[in-house]
Amino acid sequence: MDRVDVATVGGGPAGTSAAWAAAREGADALVVEKGVPRADRDRIGPDSTDAAGMLDYWVDIMDVSPEAIPDDVILSVLDGAEFIGPTESVTLEETGIDSSYDHFGFAFHRAKFDDWLRDRAEEAGGTYRVGTSVDGVETDLSESPRHTLRLADGDEIGADYLILADGPQRTVTAGVLDQFLPGGRSASDYVAPNEANHIAYQEHRKIPEELFDPAYIKFWWGLIPGHTAYPWIFPNDDNVARVGLTMPIGMDLDDVANPEGYDLLEPDDERIPSGAVYLRRLLEREYPGYDLDDFPLVEDRGKQDGTEAYPISSTRPIDSPTGAGVAVVGGAMGTTSAFHEGGDHVAVRTGKIAGELAANDQLLKYNGRWKRAIGDEILRNVAFAEIVRGWEPDDWDRVFAATRQMQRKGGYDWGGALRSGATALRVLADYKWTKRGFSDGKHVQLRQDEYTV
Ligand SMILES: Cc1cc2nc3c(=O)[nH]c(=O)nc-3n(C[C@H](O)[C@H](O)[C@H](O)COP(=O)(O)OP(=O)(O)OC[C@H]3O[C@@H](n4cnc5c(N)ncnc54)[C@H](O)[C@@H]3O)c2cc1C
Repeated sequence: MDRVDVATVGGGPAGTSAAWAAAREGADALVVEKGVPRADRDRIGPDSTDAAGMLDYWVDIMDVSPEAIPDDVILSVLDGAEFIGPTESVTLEETGIDSSYDHFGFAFHRAKFDDWLRDRAEEAGGTYRVGTSVDGVETDLSESPRHTLRLADGDEIGADYLILADGPQRTVTAGVLDQFLPGGRSASDYVAPNEANHIAYQEHRKIPEELFDPAYIKFWWGLIPGHTAYPWIFPNDDNVARVGLTMPIGMDLDDVANPEGYDLLEPDDERIPSGAVYLRRLLEREYPGYDLDDFPLVEDRGKQDGTEAYPISSTRPIDSPTGAGVAVVGGAMGTTSAFHEGGDHVAVRTGKIAGELAANDQLLKYNGRWKRAIGDEILRNVAFAEIVRGWEPDDWDRVFAATRQMQRKGGYDWGGALRSGATALRVLADYKWTKRGFSDGKHVQLRQDEYTV
């Protein structure tokens, strides 16, 4: 059996950052990544499905210097984001949060971003083993090493510290955590690994020159039914954009109270349309006079034939049983935002914290450290996801109109914008109320003291 100090399951941004930080601190660090083939990457690597947008202050949350990010990772520098409702829209050109990155954000090449993180981890002395899955982990806290990883190729790896970075599908995480939960409780009751609640689908399409705006990402809210269901367009390089959406899995058209209120539903729909149908309707609605053929698929981008699909299990974060030498990081711990799917920044940061602490035999500090580093961001995202629950198309229009009204008065950011107008005041009150409801760590679904370690 091979033995390392810190073993990480999953080689996305969280796992790779953990290995990087652990190796940098002098530990023998290993990442095991099952390996997903992608048309846009030469070597086998992590899954890397993502709309791949980064806001300015997320760079600081990653704790990365903007200059350190390689030029070929950034596809398009962003000046703002357009939020489009059924009839109203608003453009934001500031996130309203201080940051060291000079622009609103950037759209990036997720596979190259992951490769960059992997190269850094390997340069620091970490090992990235790709092409075999972790099938399971056996833990015996009275033994050394405490954890034995069973790999699909038959190998076994022993490690005293285990970092779980298997993403929102949590193929290994749930089983590991269950051993530390008393009374037959299961981590699946909290983070539901087998019940992905959303599906994300996106297409890489060439946009006609006259329509392509490289500096603005666009989100449409209130056009398709479902909580945190929305399409987007993220501009990339060479007039190519990621046209995608996220929507709930298993939604029934009969459950939609007001189907005629949603622009991307049609009267003769018998069921909720597929992601591809929604995207075709979005392009037709947005660019009248053009055909789908005017937006050809770029087949050498994305995961396969210019498209990618991914199940998402959006949730709220959980603590880790650090007394057992286990840290859950990134999407696996529920940091990906259910509101806007943003999660690379918190994945990188939680991975770094866990790797550094594990290498220094200080993993007990992890649950406190991640809350100090990303707690505000998570609380903000959890609160936003909660207040928009049940919003109808008209609600989005009202909020976008109120935000625009505020901009005319000289403000830009959501927080500032929400401070004007009756609608805005109500939303701000809702936001504060919801956030307060989650304060004192209540947004954490499974707390450290609930584990029996
Ligand atoms: C469609 C979509 C759009 C998004 N857009 C954005 C965005 O614009 N900006 C943003 O910041 N975030 C975005 N996100 C969220 C972001 O992708 C996640 O927050 C981020 O990928 C989490 O990183 P991670 O390392 O925790 O997990 P992942 O990136 O999911 O990596 C987990 C890795 O673990 C591997 N793995 C799983 N099980 C095993 C196993 N048993 N053995 C070995 N390996 C295993 C997988 O192959 C995978 O590579 C988006 C997500 C989706 C799905």
